[in-house]
Amino acid sequence: MTKPTLNILLASPRGFCAGVDRAIQIVEVALQRYGAPVYVRHEIVHNRYVVQGLEAKGAIFVEELDEVPDGRPVVFSAHGVPKSIPAEAESRQLMYVDATCPLVSKVHREAERHHADGRQIILIGHAGHPEVVGTMGQLPAGVVLLVESEEDVRTVQVDDPLNLAFVTQTTLSVDDTVQIVAALKARFPAIAGPRKEDICYATTNRQTAVKAIAAKADAILVLGAPNSSNSMRLVEVAAKHGCTNSMLVQRATQIDWAMMDNVKTLGITAGASAPDILVQEVIEACRERYDIQIEEVVTAVENITFKLPRGLAAAE
Ligand code: SF4
Repeated sequence: MTKPTLNILLASPRGFCAGVDRAIQIVEVALQRYGAPVYVRHEIVHNRYVVQGLEAKGAIFVEELDEVPDGRPVVFSAHGVPKSIPAEAESRQLMYVDATCPLVSKVHREAERHHADGRQIILIGHAGHPEVVGTMGQLPAGVVLLVESEEDVRTVQVDDPLNLAFVTQTTLSVDDTVQIVAALKARFPAIAGPRKEDICYATTNRQTAVKAIAAKADAILVLGAPNSSNSMRLVEVAAKHGCTNSMLVQRATQIDWAMMDNVKTLGITAGASAPDILVQEVIEACRERYDIQIEEVVTAVENITFKLPRGLAAAE
């Protein structure tokens, strides 16, 4: 029996970013250097496949430091941690390695600089996301105010409108954030901040790439986890740019093949914490059912890498 035809548009860039790559390497190098088990506070990156792969090598994932026994090393996840966490590790004399993405650390330093200059800080981000908890936790409680939407901008109460700055989560929707920043600048014209926002190159590039395929695709699959902010934003961006039939899947086994009935062109992308092997798994699942043709749609070429932290680099 001949298979139906399916055109696949592969968004590029997609999948792993430099910060995720570095965080995974940090756990692997720590396992080689210190032996198993190495503890990791919070999912090192928001992807079950990655987490299970590291667990198989001897990593143990915990949510809080009190689950780490004395004497074992602990790695902090790529999302960043409040200052109280390394302080607690030090007070317990735990050996820790901080896998916070350097682009998240950059936002932490920005917030500290604004605070040192006497400004109150507004963080644009999603309540409860570990990156937001980490950024707010760089400064004393109450110094950083969180806004999630233009509506929040209208109601946020600040101490002094002339002494304000904003920073953002790195994995937001670029388009939504433009609107929120515009609302902030309209209400607080003196607000200081980055030239645009702090959304990282990887989040920006993946959103641009998914926009490029959205209008041409009958459906889009985004490989990623529900707790991955940048993956969820890809689903939303695809829907807003012409493909309302966009959905998140963690593995090929989650694909709803019934919804594929009228799909002639399928777009595929992956969040920054989803490894390409999961994209290949989806392509193979499509190949079993369809006669597939693949076109890669490239909107940027990435060659960014981040060094391992001092103390873990190969020569040390
Ligand atoms: S998504 Fe951006 S901020 Fe997050 S780890 Fe990747 S490069 Fe860093």
